[in-house]
Amino acid sequence: MNKQDISNLKLLLSTKKKIVIVPHKNPDGDAIGSTLGLYHYLLKGNHDVNIISPNDYPEFLKWIPGENTILKHDSQTEACDAKINEADLIFTLDFNAFHRAGHMETVLAQSTAIKIMIDHHQAPDDYADYMFSDVSMSSTCEMVYHFIDMLGDTDKVDVNIATCLYVGIMTDTGSFRFRSTTSRTHEIIAHLIEKGADNTSIHAHIYDSNSYSRLQLLGCALNNLKVIPESRTAYITLSQAELKKYDYKKGDTEGVVNYGLSLDGIVLAAIFIEDRQEGIIKISLRSKGDFSVNELSRAYFNGGGHTNAAGGKSNLSLQKTVEKFISILPSYNKALNNE
Ligand code: 5GP
Ligand code: MN
Repeated sequence: MNKQDISNLKLLLSTKKKIVIVPHKNPDGDAIGSTLGLYHYLLKGNHDVNIISPNDYPEFLKWIPGENTILKHDSQTEACDAKINEADLIFTLDFNAFHRAGHMETVLAQSTAIKIMIDHHQAPDDYADYMFSDVSMSSTCEMVYHFIDMLGDTDKVDVNIATCLYVGIMTDTGSFRFRSTTSRTHEIIAHLIEKGADNTSIHAHIYDSNSYSRLQLLGCALNNLKVIPESRTAYITLSQAELKKYDYKKGDTEGVVNYGLSLDGIVLAAIFIEDRQEGIIKISLRSKGDFSVNELSRAYFNGGGHTNAAGGKSNLSLQKTVEKFISILPSYNKALNNE
């Protein structure tokens, strides 16, 4: 985003606008935190603002300030489409290709609103009138802070904005430990805490709200963990029957893939989760060092993401998907053993 873009956006936002903000499908902490942080900021400019999520999100995000105003496209399609069709501006946050918004893809593609992308994933599509895309950023929440800064408005950051943005920076950095965490990230976090973000309480809301059945599901996942030493890889499977047995709810498998990566010597971890409803196997991939799971996912699993965290899907059965994964590993053995 250059100086001209910033001054255009300042001008656009100087008068009341109808604004829609969209996160990706199955939104995570960064998607919900960034859309809500931007929402609270834009409300201060007296705009008419709506967040439209493609679908619902986990319970552990259902306390973030303003969360109860988020519209869900899958259950309120007509009302959401009407808002999208009459919008002056549409912000797309934490994704960079319309298909990542699931069933909202068509209505977004057809909309004539001015589109603004704020995102930190690789390989952005070319749909935005204003594109703030930076793969070096820890999180879209950090980028929303930078966006507010570029508009000269960091003094407008209040406790609501601070809380929302803290959520996504915390979740996308694995609580400030991933490589994308910089001194600037910490400076921003310091400012958010000064503005009232309660770090202890936010962390507890997100990470200390386990149900008994979720911990049992985690136990099942860890039992299923397999290691392929020659490829320094660990993977976990969860079948639909296992999910059902442990009363699976959205978000229950979040973070489980990281246990594979916590094994000494492992540089690639995967989890394969059977989703009979969608008819797919959902895949999450994590890596250490320079091994790019984004590239692996794009090449074999119709997905993408970041170098060290990516997702994808497979239309094969759970077993066949795992077989496919195991069969492609030898071609990466050299790279995996160089890490
Ligand atoms: P997760 O494994 O936590 O679902 O996702 C890890 C990262 O990969 C996130 O940044 C997420 O946005 C991205 N991601 C997850 N699934 C997909 C997918 O199917 N396609 C693409 N392009 N990115 C994905
Ligand atoms: Mn993100």
